[in-house]
Amino acid sequence: MLARMLRLRLLNAVAPAYFFTATAVTFILHFGFFLPTIFPSSGSESPLKGSTVLHTSVFLFMMLNALGNYIMTIRYPAESANDPMVIPVCSPDCSDRIDAHYLLNGRHFCKLCKKVILKRDHHCFFTGNCIGNRNMRYFIMFCIYTSCTCLYSLVLGVAFLTVEYDISFENPLTFLTLLPLSTGYFFIGGVSGLQLFLVIMLYVWLGIGLVCAGFCCQQVLLVARGQTWCQLQRGTLVQSRSPWRSNLRDVFGTRWGLGLVWPVRTVETSAEAHANPKAHTE
Ligand SMILES: [Zn+2]
Repeated sequence: MLARMLRLRLLNAVAPAYFFTATAVTFILHFGFFLPTIFPSSGSESPLKGSTVLHTSVFLFMMLNALGNYIMTIRYPAESANDPMVIPVCSPDCSDRIDAHYLLNGRHFCKLCKKVILKRDHHCFFTGNCIGNRNMRYFIMFCIYTSCTCLYSLVLGVAFLTVEYDISFENPLTFLTLLPLSTGYFFIGGVSGLQLFLVIMLYVWLGIGLVCAGFCCQQVLLVARGQTWCQLQRGTLVQSRSPWRSNLRDVFGTRWGLGLVWPVRTVETSAEAHANPKAHTE
């Protein structure tokens, strides 16, 4: 049990570092390699071509949204009920979970955050925080923009390999054989370290992009049904009494359209919710 908890704590520290490293690498590859090679500026033309400006704007927009929503997820963590009035008593069906205790009143005690969480969805290792009703909107937007940034980087990465190394992606099987072949050629000196690294990054972007997109779809479905990942894991899925529109509004706020294009607060935490924390229990 102690070893498993230590593993989770280690993951809680390593995952944010992995996220920032992958972000920095993606940023450097875009501006240091992809854009100058795919859209070279010839001497007579202005150094800022329309296509370069367009791709730079699209990439920066997606990356800033991903980073902004990441910061917002940490800045507005899941609602905590760490007040003297709340006694964290385990519910009778509290199983021996590694990361959390189920409490009597539908709340959770997260062992990693060391907090009683009102409407806990799950603990996100990449942000090192619990995801609940209050930061779910930022978390979902973070997943959407991370997915878009990764898939966009994948497309530019493929274009870069085609332009720089003459690799043709016309055959759909190329993507399957690219990594084993590149690794083999690297060890016999036929492929440079940079090329192998770029090929590995293609798979990293594809993996993160697909996982984030799938995870985001699942979270949106759960939010629309008024349920949480914790309930799904416990097998206590109940039909929400509220319609899906009001469930979505509850999480995304009334200014949800603004939240789709920029990481801003789209809903105020109501004073009523603080005054009556039971309204936030499952
Ligand atoms: Zn937590």
